[in-house]
Amino acid sequence: MVTMMENKTNVDSEMRLCPYLKKPPTDQCYCVKLDSGSVNGMLYYCGRNFHECEIYKSCSCTRDLK
Ligand code: SF4
Repeated sequence: MVTMMENKTNVDSEMRLCPYLKKPPTDQCYCVKLDSGSVNGMLYYCGRNFHECEIYKSCSCTRDLK
């Protein structure tokens, strides 16, 4: 049985990472480039702020997430 607190924790942890992290849609992803200019972008966007990422927003491969 999953308690309400455990369920909330699971949902929170899933919401913090970009769903594309496991399979980045483009070589332009911050987490793929990982050069000095991308590290801050990765830390900011690829975590909980992925909804703000222009790559995420423009990605046409949302079908892969379903
Ligand atoms: S947040 Fe943006 S850069 Fe990071 S993996 Fe997702 S789509 Fe790529």
